[in-house]
Amino acid sequence: MFKINNRTAAGPAINNQPKTTPIVDDYEISNTVLGLGINGKVVQCTNRKSNQKFALKVLLDNPKARREVDLHWRVSGCRHIVNIIDVYENTYSGNKCLLVVMECMEGGELFQRIQDNADGAFTEREAAQIMHDICVAVHYLHSRDIAHRDLKPENLLYTSQHPNAILKLTDFGFAKETLIKDTLQTPCYTPYYVAPEVLGPEKYDKSCDIWSLGVIMYIILCGFPPFYSNHGLAISPGMKKRIRTGQYDFPNPEWENVSQAAKDLIKGMLNVDPSKRLRIEDVMRNRWIAQYAEVPMTPLCTGRMLKEGEETWPEVQEEMMRSLATMRVDYDQTHIKALDKSNNALLSKRRKKIEEIAAQKK
Ligand code: ADP
Repeated sequence: MFKINNRTAAGPAINNQPKTTPIVDDYEISNTVLGLGINGKVVQCTNRKSNQKFALKVLLDNPKARREVDLHWRVSGCRHIVNIIDVYENTYSGNKCLLVVMECMEGGELFQRIQDNADGAFTEREAAQIMHDICVAVHYLHSRDIAHRDLKPENLLYTSQHPNAILKLTDFGFAKETLIKDTLQTPCYTPYYVAPEVLGPEKYDKSCDIWSLGVIMYIILCGFPPFYSNHGLAISPGMKKRIRTGQYDFPNPEWENVSQAAKDLIKGMLNVDPSKRLRIEDVMRNRWIAQYAEVPMTPLCTGRMLKEGEETWPEVQEEMMRSLATMRVDYDQTHIKALDKSNNALLSKRRKKIEEIAAQKK
């Protein structure tokens, strides 16, 4: 039985357990595709009793899918995280599947909405409110020892087209529990500058989410990403280096009127050294976030710049995806090589010496 233990720092344990009855008893599944993901389609479904519409994500039942559902389900009580309504464990043509019924996000992606409203003045105060809402979701996760690790614009969706729609985080496909289970495990490579084993895996995974927050905040304030200063042009070979070395700036005229407080917060989030990067608790205490309603209503260029850069958006998404992939370290999938299988030069030398001594003894 697929049993999910809800061990949260804040509350008592709750057991989330998928239903084994057929989903079609409770929901009518439509052909309307709401979106395509790496793991398949998300389609619309309707609750037979209430007639309410929901989104259905179908995952092939495997350990990775279980982890995704488990972690998402545990945090789905947060106002700024897409809620899971029901999970079913059903078999289709011999394949065990997990069927995840979620609230239907009818308002589309964050940046699409900002772009669609490009004519109305989008202000720094609105940007601060959006960042506050995303930070609430990340704080909810991090305080429960969960890192999202795939925090990118496509995973931020609005509940509806309504002006008061709520922004929510989704897609827990790369989420990970950050509690250290086995301190003997070490990663097989070192991403970025500070070795995660120096920082500890817990803090390292969380620091990736803060880096994403910095990139998203930068785009919300100007409409182009921080590491493409030559925006409009194709990704240059030097871009990887610029990300690693944190080389970005706040070019005028787009950044001219943006507050210093916002720029300082971005700098804290994009610090190249993960051990010096702000933690979510620091971000939540920052005045620009905590008192977002007092942030100046300075008009921003975001909507117009997003529209102008529309053609390069897939490249922006791809680069963010690649950067996040570089930053993720899967401790649970890394193994310490057995000594006899290692090709380490020093070990080979030692082996040779032992063989020589053995030969001499003969
Ligand atoms: P994957 O993990 O396979 O990438 P996602 O969870 O990101 O899948 O979903 C893929 C797409 O489906 C999203 O980009 C979005 O457009 C759409 N989608 C996902 N969840 C919902 C939802 N709850 N309501 C409406 N559309 C959704």
